[in-house]
Amino acid sequence: MSFIKTKGFVIQSIGYRDSNRLLKILTPEHGLITCSALGAKSKKSTLQVVSNPFVFAEYELFYYRERYRVQSASIIDAYLPLMEDIKRLTCVSHLAELVLDILRDNAKSKNSYQFWAYASYKITTDPDPVLITHLAQIKYLSEQGFAPWIDNCLICGNEFSEKGARFYFAEYGAICERDSCRNNVGSSSVIDLSHSSLLTLMYLIHNPYEKCFNMRLTEHVRQEIINYSERYLTYIMEKNYQKLDMIKSLENFEQGNIR
Ligand SMILES: [Zn+2]
Repeated sequence: MSFIKTKGFVIQSIGYRDSNRLLKILTPEHGLITCSALGAKSKKSTLQVVSNPFVFAEYELFYYRERYRVQSASIIDAYLPLMEDIKRLTCVSHLAELVLDILRDNAKSKNSYQFWAYASYKITTDPDPVLITHLAQIKYLSEQGFAPWIDNCLICGNEFSEKGARFYFAEYGAICERDSCRNNVGSSSVIDLSHSSLLTLMYLIHNPYEKCFNMRLTEHVRQEIINYSERYLTYIMEKNYQKLDMIKSLENFEQGNIR
C-alpha cells in the first residue's frame, strides 16, 4: 500500500451505496484512475466539492490492492461557470464520454491530461463552446490514432485546389476533384469540404493545443467543420453520441429565440 499525491480532473462521478462516490480522475502521471470517495455525497463531507464532475483538484490517494481511495483533497478550480450553463455543461459531458470511450482500452494513453486541461478550459470560457467541442474532438481522435488524411489527395497526392475536396469516410481521407482519382474508390459515405475547411482541419491536426483552440472561422466553415466532425466521430467510434443531439437542440432553441 502507498500514498500518492496528484493533480487531476474528475471526468466522471457516480454515486454508489448510500453516500459514496466513484470517481474517474484524469491525472498527469497515472493516466485515468478510478477512485472511491467514501461519504462524498454527504453535505458535511470535505470530499463533496472535490468529487463533483469536471472539477480540478489536488488529491491525496491511498493505493491498496490495485484500488485508489481519496483520503483528502483541495480544490484548484471548481469550474463553476460550467455548472450555470447547460450548453457548456453538455459540451463538456459529451467530450468526457468520448475520452472515457477512448481510454477504456488504454487508460494511460499519452496527451489525454494535457488535452483535457486545454479543452475543458476553453469550453468553459470561449464564446463558442460548441465549435470548441468539435475542434477538440477532431484533435483528440487525431492524436489517439484516428487522424483523417487531409493534407493532400489520398490517390494522386496532389495538393487540393480552391475547389476543395471530397472526404470519403470509408477511406478516412480526402480525394481531389479529378475523375481519375474519384473513380478509384468505391461508393461510400462522403462529405464535400471547401478549401477553407480543409485548411482549418490541417491547422487543427498539426498545431499544439494553445493554437488550435483559438481559431476564428466564418459561419460557413464553422458549419462545415461541425457537420464533418459529427459524422467522423460516429464513423470512427461506431456509436451515436446522444449529447451531440442535445447540443444541437440547445443551439436551435437559442437561435429561434433570437429571431
Ligand atoms: Zn487526386
